[in-house]
Amino acid sequence: LYRAKGSGRGRTEVYESSMTMGSSSDLHRELAAAIAEDQLVVHYQPIVDLSDARVVGYEALVRWEHPQRGLLLPASFLSLIQEAGMSVALGQLVATRVVEFVASIHDRTRWVSVNVSADQLGDGEFATTLLAEISRHRLTAGRIVVELTESSLVASGTRIRHELTQLSAAGVPILLDDFGTGVSPLSYLRDLPVAGVKLDMSFTSGIPEDPTAGKVARALGALARELAMVTIAEGIEHEEQAEYLHRNGWRYGQGWLYGSAQPGDISR
Ligand code: C2E
Ligand code: MG
Ligand code: MG
Ligand code: MG
Repeated sequence: LYRAKGSGRGRTEVYESSMTMGSSSDLHRELAAAIAEDQLVVHYQPIVDLSDARVVGYEALVRWEHPQRGLLLPASFLSLIQEAGMSVALGQLVATRVVEFVASIHDRTRWVSVNVSADQLGDGEFATTLLAEISRHRLTAGRIVVELTESSLVASGTRIRHELTQLSAAGVPILLDDFGTGVSPLSYLRDLPVAGVKLDMSFTSGIPEDPTAGKVARALGALARELAMVTIAEGIEHEEQAEYLHRNGWRYGQGWLYGSAQPGDISR
């Protein structure tokens, strides 16, 4: 599907293949068109060093520029992509865009984090595509980072583990997203090649009103540091949260205090 984007001929192929897949719903057809017509775009949210608010990287977040409904957030269409069997196509699209974006950043110390779902892994396509793009653009290892949620790891089989190991061995750090919300995070920290964790924003949001949220954030940070992992806190909206998290060992952070996700074509 992704390869068919662009030309008029390609578009015809996309419509044909979605019909042969037996997809009757308008939305599935709309999704195929969205990929073919470049309506799926990637925005970038800054990630900062909490000690000085300096931008160290970005998280890539997909959006759908829907011709009628405007800019749609992933919550409204990711499960449709999954149902339509288009997760692999989405992963390839995002990987390609992100590598181009990283190659265009002047500051070569900055990195970009890419979200990956379990169903994007497992067929070997994602790691292969990403690693091919990285070497094609001659990027330094570590400038592309992969984020996986704990819940997607619950379903992880040997093939996903293999793909994670392949990425990690090639120098692509793996981060555990939404850290603290999964069912069994500790065994994953032990068994998988995890380079860092992203504190789920539900803990950040609780600071300072909910003392338990703050304590859990502190304990999770201590655990991650004990394991020599990178620590990134999500959803920072207030200075007080940034200060608390930094004081309690969270090295990096992201959130509306520093900036929301923006299109990558803004000059930097
Ligand atoms: P995530 O990876 O945990 O991303 C964090 C979400 O929090 C993003 O929502 C971001 O826009 C939002 N956010 C950032 N800072 C703040 C803040 O200060 N306050 C609040 N309230 N929210 C903040 P978004 O962009 O809607 O993405 C939702 C989820 O969709 C992501 O959660 C990620 O799991 C998934 N996702 C996004 N892009 C992709 C993608 O390209 N591929 C896959 N497989 N999943 C993606
Ligand atoms: Mg993420
Ligand atoms: Mg998260
Ligand atoms: Mg985030």
